[in-house]
Amino acid sequence: MAGTKLPLLGMTLAELRQVAAQSKLPSYTASQIADWLYKKRVVSIDEMTNISAAGRASLQEQFEIGRTEPSSSRKSVDGTVKYTFPVSGSYIETVYIPASDRNTVCLSSQVGCKMSCLFCMTGKLGFTANLTANGMLNQLMSIPEADGITNAVFMGMGEPFDNTAEVMKTLDILTSSYGFGWSPKRITVSTVGAKGLKRFLDESSCNLAISLHSTHHDDRFSIMPCEKAFPIQQIISLIGKYDFSHQRRVSFEYILFRGFNDSPRHASSIALLLKGIHCRVNLINYHPIPDTPLEPSSLERMESFRDMLGRQGITCTIRTSRGEDIQAACGMLGGNNLPTKHTLKP
Ligand code: SF4
Repeated sequence: MAGTKLPLLGMTLAELRQVAAQSKLPSYTASQIADWLYKKRVVSIDEMTNISAAGRASLQEQFEIGRTEPSSSRKSVDGTVKYTFPVSGSYIETVYIPASDRNTVCLSSQVGCKMSCLFCMTGKLGFTANLTANGMLNQLMSIPEADGITNAVFMGMGEPFDNTAEVMKTLDILTSSYGFGWSPKRITVSTVGAKGLKRFLDESSCNLAISLHSTHHDDRFSIMPCEKAFPIQQIISLIGKYDFSHQRRVSFEYILFRGFNDSPRHASSIALLLKGIHCRVNLINYHPIPDTPLEPSSLERMESFRDMLGRQGITCTIRTSRGEDIQAACGMLGGNNLPTKHTLKP
């Protein structure tokens, strides 16, 4: 997201100490820079007025803030706004979701995605690049609603734990006192299950969302190729070792597909799989994308599925779709701007 100079935005305090040393500035300058970047949110080094003019000039030789404005936006009838940021010769999308009790930003962690989930438009784009912490924080800081954001979810383009190091850096900056100072409760990271999950569970206190969609190995593999490398049973065994009964929460996302995963038998298998885990299940309406055999369940089916889970002791809600009319809802990111090699039906 930045030019030839290195972006300061996205650096941890330890990295900013190296910057200070490189620029021959006292080490306490690192905390001052962090304060300007993450609390005061300046857009130029010149605004860092408690650093001497010579010090700022020295910083400017090698570094820049590293902020990039979105190149376009679309607003939904429900108030959701989708932003496009140019990156790595391609683009990423970021979704701002206002609600009565919170304003959430849905962040992308990669340009495209390698996971190829059958129901997801981003999966169809393939993978272009990992985002850096700079690219992730920039989404949160450079949209017009930035000052009113209360929550962040990593549910946009990409699999966060296929880019674990940069996602963990971003979480560190968001939750540390030198950075944004947010409570980890304000952040949720969503994953299909990838190798970085354990590191996240060990090193972060942020909330976790698992894309479940099927409890059965073969069925899940048929729509989520990641099931081969990291089967759902393995994910559940790992999660079972951590405590989600206090501050930290885990939820399971379940898109209902007609005739595939929406029967009473499927509801019972979820209750069995999640037995003993303090969690919630979010049922999601499928937004059909081209060239997939999957179809959405009806609302009646969703409601009866929710009730079946409830009767079996699982806290379950139907998640309201937001921004469907601007292709900003779950699984739709990347859908309005596909390269021409992907043929879209009207
Ligand atoms: S659902 Fe998530 S992990 Fe799967 S292809 Fe889409 S962006 Fe990637």
